[in-house]
Amino acid sequence: MKFATLASCFERLEATSSRNEMIALLARLLAGASPDEIVIVCYFVLGEIGPGYSEVNLGIGDRTTAAAIALAAGTDPASVEAAAQELGDYGDVAVRLIETPAGGPLSVADVHRGLSEIARAAGPGSIEEKKSGLARLLAAATPPERRYLSRLAAGEMRLGVGDMTLLDALAEAFLGSKAGRPSLEHAYNISSDIGHVARTLREEGLAGVQAISVSLHRPIRPMLTQRVARISEILERIGSPVIAVEEKYDGERIQAHKDGDDVTLFSRRLTDVTHQYPDIVRHVRHCVMADTAILDGEAVAFDHETGTYLPFQTLMRRRRKYRVREVAGEIPATYRAFDLLYANGESYLSRSYPDRRARLEEVLGRDKRISPADRIVTGDTDGITEFYLACIERGLEGVVCKSCAQDSFYRAGAREWQWIKWKRDYAPGISDTLDLVIVGANAGRGRRAGTYGSVLCAAYNHEEDLFQTVCGMGTGFSDVDLSDLPRRLAGARKDRQPARVMVNPQAAPDFWFAPARVVEVLGLEITESPVHTCNWDPERRRGLALRFPRFVRWRDEKSPEQATTAAEIAAIFRRQREV
Ligand code: AMP
Repeated sequence: MKFATLASCFERLEATSSRNEMIALLARLLAGASPDEIVIVCYFVLGEIGPGYSEVNLGIGDRTTAAAIALAAGTDPASVEAAAQELGDYGDVAVRLIETPAGGPLSVADVHRGLSEIARAAGPGSIEEKKSGLARLLAAATPPERRYLSRLAAGEMRLGVGDMTLLDALAEAFLGSKAGRPSLEHAYNISSDIGHVARTLREEGLAGVQAISVSLHRPIRPMLTQRVARISEILERIGSPVIAVEEKYDGERIQAHKDGDDVTLFSRRLTDVTHQYPDIVRHVRHCVMADTAILDGEAVAFDHETGTYLPFQTLMRRRRKYRVREVAGEIPATYRAFDLLYANGESYLSRSYPDRRARLEEVLGRDKRISPADRIVTGDTDGITEFYLACIERGLEGVVCKSCAQDSFYRAGAREWQWIKWKRDYAPGISDTLDLVIVGANAGRGRRAGTYGSVLCAAYNHEEDLFQTVCGMGTGFSDVDLSDLPRRLAGARKDRQPARVMVNPQAAPDFWFAPARVVEVLGLEITESPVHTCNWDPERRRGLALRFPRFVRWRDEKSPEQATTAAEIAAIFRRQREV
């Protein structure tokens, strides 16, 4: 497949604001790809060159991209930077500045090979190597190809295609309709590699996809928690007579894969964070009594002197490239495991929670460096309340309640009623925060001139794969947050309403952003609204909105599809009415 075919499809994808058309365009593209090509096409569409979890990360950065464009254009990096300031996008800059005719036809495989070599270059001289490698590709490319090459390299593809959109397109291309998506989604949830799912579907059909199973060093998408408005609802909602109530830790979700002495750690976004936690790697290697295992749990900063857990912010100080071991010594992390997904060659995903927990306790023993989450098993709300209060006293965030029913399987990637969190800041109304995606902003006036006055926030509607607005938010920002807004949002700027973003005309913002940045937002309550599109009811012309939203913090570790869902907001709204 020619890279030019891909570039022209990307142009059409960017020009459409219809999700169905997006799927049709992608389905046609995918149907024309060979098994080797389909893998690459999927990665490229998502702006990547490998599965999200792999270490083959382009990581080339703005500077090197600019230098490569300068080299290909025969100009100096300062002119490239100036054009980037003006155009706000390296793709457009490359098209404008590189005037030489295309040097030769490029195939999708050529581009992937070239970019992979660039990604692998490391050590002394590697920046130079990356720069000249990218410049060579740019020189060979046609103008539209240059646009997407530069965006891929700079990590700013942002076609507005999410993984669910791509799965729908694969279903459409090879199974004839979107109805086949659930099987693909399941395979994707346990393999986290859309390229692998696509190739299997292309080569072996649906049966092959259904046979995809758990594999070491390939992360499983984490199971997520639901929330309720009152503690008394928890038992009702979970629907099993006895439930487990576990401590809820405020750290970083980590999935640990042990393969003999070889340990890989994945974050909630499924990136490889092994190098950030040398201490947890050691603990998993030495304390997990199974040759192979996959654990789900939380890395928490722990003060061994006082015996207390330290806040999330303290742990985040360990997110760094350099001095990792030194800082690990200053802020030691312990690993509280709450699930076992695989052990000694066997998947535990379809075992009940009580079975998985029993096996977890067997493989862990009771070492304080890595231990199973503390918990109780209870059948009444008073039991939950007492354990919850004890957790709060110990400085924890709250509890996570888990079904003990026979069908309490580990549902990768799902947010269902089997796991319900109850947190300290819960009270009638909503005092739990929502994680919302910024899709627009209005220009600031007066004191806020030069930055944005407010941002337009959206929830993720999983069923429709759309971002639907919930509120405009202008409060809660410190002066530093405010002045930082344009920089934070610059990479996501769009000159028109992005596809998958649903906004009513009366809420249309001055500036649009592709769904990329997630913020944590506190608000008073959910109300019906003729303006916002969250759970939009076309007949009543009403959606749901968050009143009195306040900015709390950035949630850089969350992808837009991991934001609070429209269904969760609808559930909060319904429950508010019942209280
Ligand atoms: P939240 O991030 O507020 O939606 O809460 C869900 C998160 O709580 C999970 O993704 C885990 O990172 C974390 N967590 C902490 N303790 C537990 C536990 N015992 N069981 C499940 N999740 C937990």
